[in-house]
Amino acid sequence: MFKKVLIANRGEIALRIHRACREMGIKTVAVHSLADSSAMHVRLADESVCIGPAPSKASYLNIPSIISAALVTGADAIHPGMGFLSENAEFAAIVEAHGMTFIGPTPEHIHIMGDKVKAKETAISLGIPVVPGSKGAVETEEEALAVARDVGFPVLIKAASGGGGKGMKVAHFEGELKDALHLAKAEADANFGNSQVYIEKYLSAPRHIEIQVLADGFGNAIHLGERDCSIQRRHQKVWEEAFSPVITPEQRAKLGKIVTDAMGQMKYRGVGTIEFLYENGEFYFIEMNTRLQVEHPITEMITGLDLVEEQIRIAAGAHLQYKQEDITFKGHAIECRINAEHPETFVPSPGKIGYYHAPGGVGVRVDSALYSGYNIPPHYDSLISKLIVYGRTRQEALMRLSRALDEYIIDGVETTLPLHKKLVKSADIIGGNYDVHWLEKMLNMS
Ligand code: ADP
Repeated sequence: MFKKVLIANRGEIALRIHRACREMGIKTVAVHSLADSSAMHVRLADESVCIGPAPSKASYLNIPSIISAALVTGADAIHPGMGFLSENAEFAAIVEAHGMTFIGPTPEHIHIMGDKVKAKETAISLGIPVVPGSKGAVETEEEALAVARDVGFPVLIKAASGGGGKGMKVAHFEGELKDALHLAKAEADANFGNSQVYIEKYLSAPRHIEIQVLADGFGNAIHLGERDCSIQRRHQKVWEEAFSPVITPEQRAKLGKIVTDAMGQMKYRGVGTIEFLYENGEFYFIEMNTRLQVEHPITEMITGLDLVEEQIRIAAGAHLQYKQEDITFKGHAIECRINAEHPETFVPSPGKIGYYHAPGGVGVRVDSALYSGYNIPPHYDSLISKLIVYGRTRQEALMRLSRALDEYIIDGVETTLPLHKKLVKSADIIGGNYDVHWLEKMLNMS
């Protein structure tokens, strides 16, 4: 097992990884930018190294600085967390080339799945159903039109290197296609340095259903059930549930088997999430994330597993310690992503936290690095806390969430807590009747 892990991330996820390491008896090294010197993960880690100025490019994305910090402190592994360098195949290879372990999949698998065009081709070759669309990337207006006519309007143009909902444009009819293509290409280039795009049929009322997998690189893979992440704004998740209110145990077992067979065949290593859209009883693959997900805690709540611990064990060379039949699912879990943003305009609201009080009690978990007096820097993602609740039934989870939201106090900045208070009381959410377009429609009406 590793003796010392460098955590190449910040915020709640850096703290989450630190906690798993501590429980495994592994020492931790925090890295931080100048803006994060008083962050909670820095305070709690065994050692910390400043890796550059506030902008991510100069710090959390600064590979030479991170590698130097790891070498200087004698870390034997690097955990990339999520975002930043977590899906950067080159970084994974550089870590390995310096004699340390990258806690994640092989650089090859990160590379294949990071390119959504290649990922879709791989999914098809492994027998996973995909959203109908272009075979590979689309370059010209003529090609785009041919694909769109073939699958039928509306269509969605998506960035091959996309993430975080960026570089996606809908064309509802032929007249919109040309502009959508050029806009998507420009946005993809600006955000990801790669203007390659592809086209998919735009589904009108899908749910976002994703399967969590755990695999050891020796051909063994298990699934940990699904998460329903259909409550989204601008294609970004806001609220997640495990299980989905609409998926049956038979569907779960069937999809789980397709996915674990595929992961076993690939000899995938680590945690991974296979994302699908679900409409009219059919599942369509959209992408695979080769890292821990923001919403991983809800899977932990219904399985009792610690996904970060499993991830670290696998990276250290262990075989999977569970078979599929060892995994038992219990109860229902919900996660609310709380952002430092105005709850109606969604304008970011960085700044100093005044009074801070997190909810507690049975079945309540708060994954956050906030504390009274903490200053939220303006340079990074606005996610500041994840409120996770567990209940024996979905109804109990909803009631618990409602009371936990009422207890939560974050003074000094605007947060999206009021939005979640509205969501938990919504008849559609209580009834489980929502799709990926539901929240945007609700926001436009209010
Ligand atoms: P990203 O990598 O940017 O997160 P994804 O491919 O995972 O992009 O899609 C993010 C979200 O965008 C999905 O959860 C869904 O809400 C929406 N979306 C993606 N593809 C489609 C599609 N073909 N039809 C309708 N909505 C889609």
